[in-house]
Amino acid sequence: MGSWEIVEKRGSEDIAVVYLLRSRMDDGVFIECVESLDPPVPPEEKWVITLSSQKGCPAGCSFCDASFYYRGNLSEAELLDQLRVIVDRHGGDGRLDSEKIKLHLARMGEPSFNDNVPGFLEEVKSRYPGVRFVPAIATIGPAGREEWFERLKRLKDEYFGEGFFQLQFSLNTTDERYRNKMMPAKKMTFREISLLGDRWVVNRDRKVTLNFALHADAPFDAGRIAGSFSPSSFLVKLTPMNPTRAASASGMESDIGFDGSVSERVLGEIGRLERAGFEVIVSIGSMEEILTGSNCGQLAFARGGHETRDGGRRVIIGDGGASGEKSSDDSRI
Ligand code: SF4
Repeated sequence: MGSWEIVEKRGSEDIAVVYLLRSRMDDGVFIECVESLDPPVPPEEKWVITLSSQKGCPAGCSFCDASFYYRGNLSEAELLDQLRVIVDRHGGDGRLDSEKIKLHLARMGEPSFNDNVPGFLEEVKSRYPGVRFVPAIATIGPAGREEWFERLKRLKDEYFGEGFFQLQFSLNTTDERYRNKMMPAKKMTFREISLLGDRWVVNRDRKVTLNFALHADAPFDAGRIAGSFSPSSFLVKLTPMNPTRAASASGMESDIGFDGSVSERVLGEIGRLERAGFEVIVSIGSMEEILTGSNCGQLAFARGGHETRDGGRRVIIGDGGASGEKSSDDSRI
């Protein structure tokens, strides 16, 4: 029967379907997951699955709807059951034969807070032999989780090498003080992230992504990036600040439009980054997808109000599976 019951399903099979799941064991617990495509790329080539790693989130980022409640980590079994909610819907339709299935831990929760995530990914590898999953971890880079990242690196090296793993640090600004204001949890410094990334990338691994969901007030300085990170280990991805409820309440206005437009100040910094040798990608989610409520926490928040009171630059438009600051797909990175 599994850990989860689908209580709401929203969206279109052609673009993105968001599921609101209610725990069968834990009263008042809701999580969300998403499956999406990346038109015009056909499903046989790419399918994106975005999962929650926690029941809500304790990090309290000012722009994110996932942190309105927190009820703990998903167990390994709950993570697997969440994946099955999506995968089992496609039994026999060939979707699991897709050339690439992006498996994002980028919905509700900070994945590095959950010690069950590496074991879950290992289990996925053994339960779905031959399926071309590409795990993608989007993290704010919490401090004190070095062991977790080491374990993840060992897992990547053993099972998902040669470009089959994506790691993204969601920085969102180049100013450490402003970063703390947006993301108040204690975090690794740029220096610590830089050292980790330099060790992370071996052989034909994908570079580590530095993600900036930029809004107009967030300091963004190419010199700070170039002075802290190596372009041989890191690339830079710019995304719009998705219109979450929390972002609107904080008065954040995106510096990048959903039509691909980029403000003058950001364009200037992109040029500086490129001259410093960085690959820069501007990645735009689909507004249609956002209108389905596919930013992290949106559906669960809506439900929570009633039932959980206790508790060379590429510009890519139309990525699948967007979430708060963590846009989901990095081939686009
Ligand atoms: S952005 Fe990520 S880490 Fe921050 S509150 Fe949302 S889910 Fe948690």
